[in-house]
Amino acid sequence: MSNDELLRRHDAGGRDRCAGAAAGLAAAPSLHTALLTCMDCRIDEQTLFGLEPGDVHVLRNAGGVVTDDVVRSLVISQRKLGTREVLLVAHTGCGMATFTDDEFSEELARETGLVPSWRPQSFADAATNVGRGITRLRTDPFLLPEMSVRGFVLDIETFTLTEVTPA
Ligand SMILES: [Zn+2]
Repeated sequence: MSNDELLRRHDAGGRDRCAGAAAGLAAAPSLHTALLTCMDCRIDEQTLFGLEPGDVHVLRNAGGVVTDDVVRSLVISQRKLGTREVLLVAHTGCGMATFTDDEFSEELARETGLVPSWRPQSFADAATNVGRGITRLRTDPFLLPEMSVRGFVLDIETFTLTEVTPA
């Protein structure tokens, strides 16, 4: 099983490397920022942004969508752990653009007999997703008013970033 492989790698050096890298670090991110991106396994945000342990909060989900739970984490990140900036990064070639919410919900209902209570929050266009995420964060009552938010679309082949200005 693949989980066994992960645990083998943990024992084979992962544990010791992480313990060494985190030694002496505070829980609050030293760069005072939080990064939200997609769970896509091709994205290595540590390498992409030259991150080291202790630098930032990293949030990842399907699509890099600003969901209720992302807002929950960001409110805690800002109010309890001192972050003041958010970087949103969606990407080209995202799996979330390959189905619609209605299609996926219908597929789940057909296979299980249950309609999910949550929306998949798929999107056809990554830039639109980022723009809506920025707007949602800027209008959230619990995030700090001094927060700075920027959003980008990552080209999944060249790994260049294109900034998104919300509508
Ligand atoms: Zn994706």
